[in-house]
Amino acid sequence: MLSSEAIQNLNQRFQTEPTESILAWAWEKFGRRAAIGTSFQGAGLVMMDLASRTRLEFPVFTLDTGLLFPETIALKLRLESFFGFQIESLEPDLSVEEQGEIQGPELWKRDPDLCCTVRKVVPLQGKLAALDCWITGLRRQQSDTRSSIGIIESYLFDPASGREVIKLNPMANWTRDAVWTYLKEHQIPYNPLQDQGYRSVGCVPCTHKAGSDENERAGRWLGFQKSECGIHTFMARKA
Ligand code: SF4
Repeated sequence: MLSSEAIQNLNQRFQTEPTESILAWAWEKFGRRAAIGTSFQGAGLVMMDLASRTRLEFPVFTLDTGLLFPETIALKLRLESFFGFQIESLEPDLSVEEQGEIQGPELWKRDPDLCCTVRKVVPLQGKLAALDCWITGLRRQQSDTRSSIGIIESYLFDPASGREVIKLNPMANWTRDAVWTYLKEHQIPYNPLQDQGYRSVGCVPCTHKAGSDENERAGRWLGFQKSECGIHTFMARKA
């Protein structure tokens, strides 16, 4: 799809380009074969706004695990109304109750990796099968595991066919402060839990408040050696 050299060159170029230009490049290259994936953290909201203002009509999707906060579900509806487009919810095959019948109750307490695979990774894989470019709101400042992400990366999606997927992280260089300044300035709806000490909001059982001196994802999966759900780690990076 794009050679390693092309990815390197684009990464250099994008370091100094505004986020709108990076999104415009993706639109020109992939059109609606590129989509924004968001869990409605701050950076995803900024990206949706920038795309909307510049009339880049990327599809937008989210992973609805069935275990989201009511505030997050309500935010999705508020954002659809604010931006005037639909946000696709990707759901797992099994309801929470069905998962409990097969795996036992509260799988997240015993095997959060398996729970995240069933409720997040597999639904995402289904979506990526129909995309060439996945646009994320990842930022380098969020955590150690994200500190060295590229603005553009190439991943092997399907080892059998050799099919690749481009992952675009146009918000990689943004700080948390810059994100929240933008959201407030543009009066974009955001998750009210952010004002209650939840610095990163995911599923109810695996999200806790975190101190302002901790990394942003410190409140996720407390008690486990886990800081990523797996959606950003299941594919092999090529460049
Ligand atoms: S974040 Fe927790 S509840 Fe949500 S899918 Fe992962 S393990 Fe399950």
